[in-house]
Amino acid sequence: MHTLIDQHGRIVRDLRISVTPRCNYRCTYCDPLGVGHKEPAGVVSAQDVANVVEAAVSLGMTSVRFTGGEPLLRKELPAMIRHAKRVAGVEDVAITTNGSLLARRLPELVEAGLDRLNVSLDALDPEAFRLLTSGGRIETVWAGIEAIVAAGLEPVKLNAVVIRGLNEGEVAGLAGLTRDRPFQVRFIEYMHLDNSSPEEYRGKYVSGAETRLLIEAAFGPLQAVPVDPSAPARLYRVDGWRGAIGFINSVSEPFCAGCSRMRLTSDGRLRPCLMHDWELDVRHALRAADPVAAIREAFVLAARNKVATGIKTPVVRDRTMVAIGG
Ligand code: SAM
Repeated sequence: MHTLIDQHGRIVRDLRISVTPRCNYRCTYCDPLGVGHKEPAGVVSAQDVANVVEAAVSLGMTSVRFTGGEPLLRKELPAMIRHAKRVAGVEDVAITTNGSLLARRLPELVEAGLDRLNVSLDALDPEAFRLLTSGGRIETVWAGIEAIVAAGLEPVKLNAVVIRGLNEGEVAGLAGLTRDRPFQVRFIEYMHLDNSSPEEYRGKYVSGAETRLLIEAAFGPLQAVPVDPSAPARLYRVDGWRGAIGFINSVSEPFCAGCSRMRLTSDGRLRPCLMHDWELDVRHALRAADPVAAIREAFVLAARNKVATGIKTPVVRDRTMVAIGG
């Protein structure tokens, strides 16, 4: 069994595959250009994804997360999950989703072998949610979350990006979900992955420390919950509450030193670092006579180009989060 090690000695274990740039929501900080409503469903086919997963497994990668865009918009998603889990033998198969289509589709994903999922949830108030997502209905997402609980895929992880002027008012309500339910509500720092100007970005950025203060002002001191130190989220709990509150401080406390990730974009490029725009076009490898071998080579080359740490100063990017794959 091989191990893929990048040029800084970090083991590459986790593969994120964006299966489509399309999304039925349009969150302004993720898709300011409306790419998710315009782009075709994605260039990578289910067979391409299978080949990439097989190459990844042969290099020792143990976890695959399907994302997008909205991965549930891809009708082949159950087949992709089934192949990753039951054919390629990936240890941990997960998805990141906005939850809007889960109530209907979760059973087939679980049946295919899905191990776990994260649901993005930036607001609880129906009107705030509708505005943030450009038309999303919180009721449909809740039905999806209840479906996860019913399927026993716990802990349910709910992720919120906190943005000044958009949803700081939702922070306490989201954290309050952990009072009676065993959810993990995780607050993620807004990263400069939209095409906003550096000034606009700085104005909207809220640090995890500030988010924590908002929560402590509402509910009192948070107590640390021990976690794997290499995990990106730091977890806390309000004394006596059932769930946990997490902070993913990607900007103020970057976890690049322990980064084990590699990404495949939905247009067939390997991207070793979310915050660095270098990408390796692997479409030729996907069409090679032996695609698995060709992609293996591409993985090795991409790992050699994985930077120690991504760009820290805000820059205007052409490719926004929805197109890269979150
Ligand atoms: N559509 C799916 C969803 O909503 O979870 C998957 C794709 S979405 C790009 C994945 C995650 O990226 C979401 O939790 C979203 O909030 C997050 N995200 C998007 N833009 C971001 C940004 N600029 N900074 C931090 N997180 C961002």
